[in-house]
Amino acid sequence: MKTIALVAHDNRKDDLIEWVNFNWEELAKHKIYCTGTTGKLVKEALSEKCKEHRKSVPRVIRLKSGPLGGDQQMGALITEGEIDLFIFLWDPMQPQPHDVDVKALLRIAVLYNIPTANNRSTADYIIASPLLQNDYKPDVKDYSEYINRNI
Ligand code: PGA
Repeated sequence: MKTIALVAHDNRKDDLIEWVNFNWEELAKHKIYCTGTTGKLVKEALSEKCKEHRKSVPRVIRLKSGPLGGDQQMGALITEGEIDLFIFLWDPMQPQPHDVDVKALLRIAVLYNIPTANNRSTADYIIASPLLQNDYKPDVKDYSEYINRNI
C-alpha cells in the first residue's frame, strides 16, 4: 500500500476527478491525502465508486484547503517521508493567491525525489507503473555535508 497525495487547483479539479473515477479501483488500495476541497471531491467520487462495486472505501485524509495552509501541510508530510506519490494538477493559466506555497510544495517534492505528476499524462504513467506494486523508495540525496557545514 502506498500513500498518495492528490491536489488540484479549482480549474483542474474536474480533470482530477475524471482521473480518480477512471482509476478508482487502483486508488482504493492505497491511503490518500488531499488538500481540503480536493479531498472533499475525491472522497465523494471514491465513495460512490466503491459503494457501487461493494468495495471498502479507502482512507482519504483531508488537510486544510491549499490557500489556507494545506500546501504547506502537504510539504511537511513529504519532508517526514509520509508521501510516496504526488499528483498535483496546478493551474498553468491562472495565478493563485498562494503561489508562493505552490512553489514551495513543488520544490520540496523535487528535493525529496517524490514521483510527481503535474498533468494527466504523467499521472497516467505513474498509476500504471509496475513500481506501484513493490516497495520502491526514492533515493534522497545525501545532504550531510550541507547539514554539518561550518558556519
Ligand atoms: P484545495 O486546495 O484542494 O483546498 O482547493 C488546492 C490548492 O490550491 O493547493
